[in-house]
Amino acid sequence: MTVTPIRLFGDPVLRSPADPVVDFDKELRRLVADLIDTLRDEGGAGLAAPQLGVGLRVFAFDVDDVVGHIVNPVVEFPDEEEQEGPEGCLSIPGVYVDTKRRLNAVAKGFDEHGEPIQLVGTGMMARCVQHETDHLDGVLFIDRLDAKARKEAMKAIRATDWYEAGLTIKVSPHASSGKAG
Ligand SMILES: [Zn+2]
Repeated sequence: MTVTPIRLFGDPVLRSPADPVVDFDKELRRLVADLIDTLRDEGGAGLAAPQLGVGLRVFAFDVDDVVGHIVNPVVEFPDEEEQEGPEGCLSIPGVYVDTKRRLNAVAKGFDEHGEPIQLVGTGMMARCVQHETDHLDGVLFIDRLDAKARKEAMKAIRATDWYEAGLTIKVSPHASSGKAG
């Protein structure tokens, strides 16, 4: 079992569109295993490869004990119905905001062996499919909020311990020993 550290908001990998998987090889199967192990350890609904720092179009899901993965997903909406409800992200820990999503979503893609699969989701699974596919495009759930809610979400993010810790790491310890003078 390999649990891998999850990249947090502020990491550029979360803003980079991921590449389609071309080789359905051993490395891909290791990535899928890492995604599922890490997701189960963290207890989330879904986890996309960029959240582990890997720029490939793969995500894992664990919704109502349905555990799986999909490679190169393409999402379709069978109808216009919408849902409201709180949404969070393992890359934005501790921040949950009501986020409007489509109620039904179908993801078409492949399993780790390259066999075509279809993931038919409603409710939470549909929300997961939309959230994780967004990750593969460098999109985060806070981008789906209206301006006011997004502003509040950013305020909540800035108030978290992990965001503050991330900023501290970026400050150079030698900033005050420059060549001035
Ligand atoms: Zn997420």
